[in-house]
Parts: sequence; structure tokens; C-alpha cells
Amino acid sequence: MSPRESLATVHDRIAHAARLAGRDPANVTLVAVSKTHPAEAIRPLLDAGQRVFGENRVAEAEAKWPALRDEYPGVELHLVGQLQSNKADAAAVLFDCIHSLDRPSLVAALARAAERTGRAPRCFVQVNIGDEPQKGGCAIADLPALLAEARGAALPVAGLMAVPPAGVEAAPYFALLAKLARDNGVAGLSMGMSDDLEAAVMLGATYVRVGSALFGARA
Ligand SMILES: *Cc1c(COP(=O)(O)O)cnc(C)c1O
Repeated sequence: MSPRESLATVHDRIAHAARLAGRDPANVTLVAVSKTHPAEAIRPLLDAGQRVFGENRVAEAEAKWPALRDEYPGVELHLVGQLQSNKADAAAVLFDCIHSLDRPSLVAALARAAERTGRAPRCFVQVNIGDEPQKGGCAIADLPALLAEARGAALPVAGLMAVPPAGVEAAPYFALLAKLARDNGVAGLSMGMSDDLEAAVMLGATYVRVGSALFGARA
């Protein structure tokens, strides 16, 4: 499949799932996760009209995106990987949205970064939805306090994000994240990847983060 065909296929999958659930597909934003892929692999999607992209490392995004942004106006860049506090300034300058706000120290670092850089990216609070020790995200029990800290620091909170455990049915975890969002009064839901985006969209995802279905397998 050409990149243009892959993009059309992913859009069709999103639209089909949204319609089944009585949702407007326009309320689901596709984040094309271009991590590990070079500019030559990204350009065909830009040429096809895709403008929202995700990266998981600040340094890699800094190396790839400033030049692409000069070439293609209107790019929106999302950080979908863990963020170290000492890279908060660089992330604030580069990214429009951060999907991995998961601890009080990062709230503080992003608040300082906003003062220093004048840039405050929208943030999704990442929840460790399957309670997995190796994964990023705040514990479910810590979510209300972390949301309160983020709001207190005037960070623009866009919603909740999660990556369900691998190898098991993802839908219950998506449903749980949606419930946590309702319970805590946040609107956005960043959930669903290449293999499970239909379930995520049917359960309310407003952002799906899709890599391999668009770019092929990562090396
Ligand atoms: C890599 C990545 C994705 C995309 O995963 P695919 O399975 O390739 O679609 C989505 N979200 C996060 C947080 C990622 O790191």
C-alpha cells in the first residue's frame, strides 16, 4: 500500500467505528506517530494532507521537524513518549500537545517552561491504566490529585491518555479510561493505536495515535 492508501485506510477505519457508535468522525483526530521514521517517509503523508504528527523523543523531533515545518505550514506536533523534566523547555517550544504528563515534578517543570518560553502545550494526563510497573503514567488512585496540580499550575489539560497492557483485550481499559475522564471532568481521550483503534473510537477516543498502520513496521 502507498502511504496515501494507508492514510485513507486508517481514515476509513476511524470513520466506520465512529459511525457505528453514533459519533461524528470529525471529533476523532488522527495523530500519525512518525517516531523512528525519517523525513522521506513522513513527506508523502504531509503531501496527502496529514498535519498532526506524534514523536516519542524530544531530540529526534528536534532533528526532524523544524525543517519539515518550514516546508509544510500548519503542522501540529504531539509528544507521545515519556518526558524528562530537564527537557521541558525544549518540549514546550517544539510540541503543541504533550500526551505524557504523569507526575507532579513534570507539572512543575512544564509550568516553569511556560514562564520561560511563553509556550504552554495542551497536556493529556497519562494514566497507568493496567497498573504495570514498567509503564509510564500515574496510578489511577493519584489521578485526581495530579489533575488538581495541573489545573492549579494553569497547564491546559486536554484530557487523559493511556496505553493498555499488551497482549490482552484493550477495550476494558479504554472503557475504564473513559470513565475516569467522566469522573474527573475532562473531555479529551487519547487512546487507540494501529491494532485497536476501532475499539478506542467506539469507546470515545478523541485522539488516536497510529504508527505502524501508516508507516509500516518500525525497525
Ligand atoms: C509508538 C506509539 C504509538 C503508535 O503505535 P502503533 O502500534 O505503531 O500504531 C502510539 N502511542 C504511543 C505512546 C507510542 O509510543
